[in-house]
Amino acid sequence: MGSFLKVILQNIVKGPSTIKYPFEDSPAPEKLRGLIKHNPEACVACGMCAYVCAGGAIRLQESDDKAGMDFIVWHNTCTFCGLCEFYCPTKAIHLTNDYHTAHLQADKYSYVEKTYVKNQPCIRCGEPIIPLSPIFAEKIYGKDGDVKSLAKMCPECRRKAIWEGCVHKA
Ligand code: SF4
Ligand code: SF4
Repeated sequence: MGSFLKVILQNIVKGPSTIKYPFEDSPAPEKLRGLIKHNPEACVACGMCAYVCAGGAIRLQESDDKAGMDFIVWHNTCTFCGLCEFYCPTKAIHLTNDYHTAHLQADKYSYVEKTYVKNQPCIRCGEPIIPLSPIFAEKIYGKDGDVKSLAKMCPECRRKAIWEGCVHKA
């Protein structure tokens, strides 16, 4: 009985060993597949993520101002499969370990990640384009030559620049 009381007293002094959720956040494993995060700076609007998306949760569409692309992910529809992250050539989309996904049914159409991938003028001819991500450009054209400039050109100007020797590998 004495040792039993001792344990009780020790536990009272130590306090609860469980997390006081919802008054404090529960730590999530680093690799937990949670809410999607999209980086429009790295995105090249290739549409690969939308193509492979198991839940049909991703949509890329021309923005109302016609000056870029709206990128939308419906958290309500996402199945957290991770295919978008796996196939994205520029690592522009990834699943965070944020597990706060509970929401009201009425909010299902507003519970979205929405970003804007802005068109930029081709540095050679001025035509509005979504530039290639430098990472993507390096994968295609290698690291030799002015690959950074090449990434900011429209496909036609890129072809001309390669022909003129802007990069050593095409
Ligand atoms: S994790 Fe899967 S379901 Fe969710 S947006 Fe990416 S591809 Fe679609
Ligand atoms: S997030 Fe990645 S896969 Fe999706 S459109 Fe952008 S670059 Fe392509």
